[in-house]
Amino acid sequence: MPITSNVVWDARLETFKGRDTAHYIDSVIATTHRCAACRLPFGPGAALSLTVDITEGLDREGRVCLTFDPAVHHLQCRQAGLKVHQATGFPGEQTALGARLVLAWGGAGETNIPVLAYTLLPSLVFGKPGGEMTSALVSALVNHGFQLSFNDTYGDIVRQARPVRDTCTRTVGTDGAVELRMDGALMHSQQLDPMDPRDNTWLEAATAGHILVISGDNLGFTDTGLQLSAAAHLGTLVTGAVPGLVTSDREKSRFRSFEPAKAQDR
Ligand SMILES: [Zn+2]
Repeated sequence: MPITSNVVWDARLETFKGRDTAHYIDSVIATTHRCAACRLPFGPGAALSLTVDITEGLDREGRVCLTFDPAVHHLQCRQAGLKVHQATGFPGEQTALGARLVLAWGGAGETNIPVLAYTLLPSLVFGKPGGEMTSALVSALVNHGFQLSFNDTYGDIVRQARPVRDTCTRTVGTDGAVELRMDGALMHSQQLDPMDPRDNTWLEAATAGHILVISGDNLGFTDTGLQLSAAAHLGTLVTGAVPGLVTSDREKSRFRSFEPAKAQDR
C-alpha cells in the first residue's frame, strides 16, 4: 500500500480522487488529531493509516454522487482500507460542522469582521470517480454568488470577498441564533451566546453590516482555529460577504467558538 509522509493509504483511493489524492490525504491528516479506534492523540511522527468509506448513489436527477467519510488511525490500531457502499438513492444525510470567529481588520481604527465558517460532512460530490468531480456544497454556494478562493490567508480572503447574490440572506436573532438561507431555505445555523463576551463581539459586528462566510469542502476545524490550506489547494474553498436582513429566533445547531484571530494585512 502507498505511504504519504507517515500515512499508509489504500491505492484504490486514487481511482476516486485522481490527481487530488495527495491533497485530500493531507487535508484529512492535517485536521485529525486522534485515532478513530483508540481515541488517543497522535504522537509526533506516529505511523498512521487512512480508511475511507465511500457511498455511491444517485441524486433526484439521476446523477452519480459520492460521499467520502475518512478516518485516521494508528497503524497498529487499524490497517489502511477503502470500502465502497452502494446506496439505492441519495447517499445519506450530511452533518454541519461550523465555527464563528472575529477578524480584527486594519491598523488604526480596526474593524471587527464577523466570520461564519462551516462545512458539511461527509463531503458530497457529483461526477465520475477519478474524473472531474463537483462538490455539491461548493456548487450550491457558487450558484448564489459565492466565489472560489485559492488563498488561505485571512488577509487575502477578506480583501477578495465580494457580496453574494440577494438569494442568499442571513439573520441574527436577539437570542444569538445565526441563520444562513439560500432561496429562503435554511443552509446553516449556529447558536451564539449573547452573554459570552466573544460571541457578543461577533454579534455586535454582525449587526453592524456584512458577515464573511467561509465554506466549502475539506475545511479543517481544530481546537486552535480553522485550517483552510487544503481546501484552497483543492479548489473547494468558497467565500462571500452576506448582508443582514431581519432577526429571527429559530433552529439551532452545534458550533465551536474560537478566540478572535488577527487578520494579516500585507
Ligand atoms: Zn489508536
